[in-house]
Amino acid sequence: MSRILVTGGAGFIGSHLVDALLERGHEVLSLDNYFTGSKDNLLQHLDNPRFEMVRHDVVEPILLEVDQVYNLACPASPVHYQYNPVKTVKTNVLGTLNMLGLAKRVEARILQASTSEVYGDPQVHPQTEDYWGNVNPIGLRSCYDEGKRLAETLMMDYHRSNEVEVRIVRIFNTYGPRMAIDDGRVVSNFAVQALKGEPITIYGDGRQTRSFCYVSDLVAGLIAMMESENFTGPVNLGNPDEFTMLELAQQVLDLTGSDSRIVHQDLPPDDPTRRRPDITLARQKLGWSPAVKLASGLAPTVDYFRSVLQSK
Ligand code: NAD
Ligand code: UDP
Repeated sequence: MSRILVTGGAGFIGSHLVDALLERGHEVLSLDNYFTGSKDNLLQHLDNPRFEMVRHDVVEPILLEVDQVYNLACPASPVHYQYNPVKTVKTNVLGTLNMLGLAKRVEARILQASTSEVYGDPQVHPQTEDYWGNVNPIGLRSCYDEGKRLAETLMMDYHRSNEVEVRIVRIFNTYGPRMAIDDGRVVSNFAVQALKGEPITIYGDGRQTRSFCYVSDLVAGLIAMMESENFTGPVNLGNPDEFTMLELAQQVLDLTGSDSRIVHQDLPPDDPTRRRPDITLARQKLGWSPAVKLASGLAPTVDYFRSVLQSK
């Protein structure tokens, strides 16, 4: 049994990670400021003596004794990370510094949730870890993209200078139950719009692509990476099945039986045109690959949004 800190533990991915770690018998401490996360995602564990939740902002230092740190704290949806972009930079830079300082002090292993956004609007397809990316340093997405890139830099410098045991994962678009209903990302938007019979908002012509990973697959990859030996990463974690936003909209419409129409809205600036992970490294080093196809993962996701809408 390990003592494990999950920052961003009340968020979408973080709460599923907390579930999986408790299931494995660990002691888990969730640390969250509840900006985009919710206590509702963790209520099922309140009676568990191996679980604890703390309201804390990672931008401020904290003293804790743990064996492992999963650093997930950071809003992930463009709507939320652009709400207060300077705060997003602070969360990624000061937050990661604080967690690295903690890891160094108590000799904990630390995993950083990085992102496919470090590749920006990629000119290499599919994206491999050795691609340095095509990121606009002054655009609307840069608080997140550059923030995450600097977090990777800090991880590697703490590793080289201070022998901290670091793990870097680059997460590609992940979806599933517990995404916030107002999250603003494409899967939650389309599902909620279809269920409400409202127009499905496709940004641009809808031919841009993304590759969607179901959250249980992603969590298995996070744990496999944390438990791997002598491998800092970065490693891509995602599902290589690639879809246009038009295809995704059609799948959601088919699944819900909704008669929502499709409307097109302006494409946000710097929206990546194509994105698909090359997961050769994850297969080789971690023996990991995703198992859940989009159609199988969308069904429980839509069911989740349906139950949230019904309870309102
Ligand atoms: P989320 O917004 O649901 O979760 C983020 C959590 O971090 C929330 O609970 C939020 O309240 C908390 N948080 C934000 N700022 C904080 C701060 N300063 N201090 C403490 N807590 C803070 O997002 P998610 O989809 O669960 O993403 C989790 C992590 O994975 C993020 O670091 C994100 O960048 C990364 N990621 C996610 C995806 C994806 O597709 N979901 C893709 C790439 C990377
Ligand atoms: N998108 C869309 N309609 C929406 C929300 C998003 O067409 O209601 C598009 C968005 O422009 C992008 C893709 O879906 O091309 C994925 O967007 P998301 O915000 O989910 O993730 P990211 O852009 O960070 O990959």
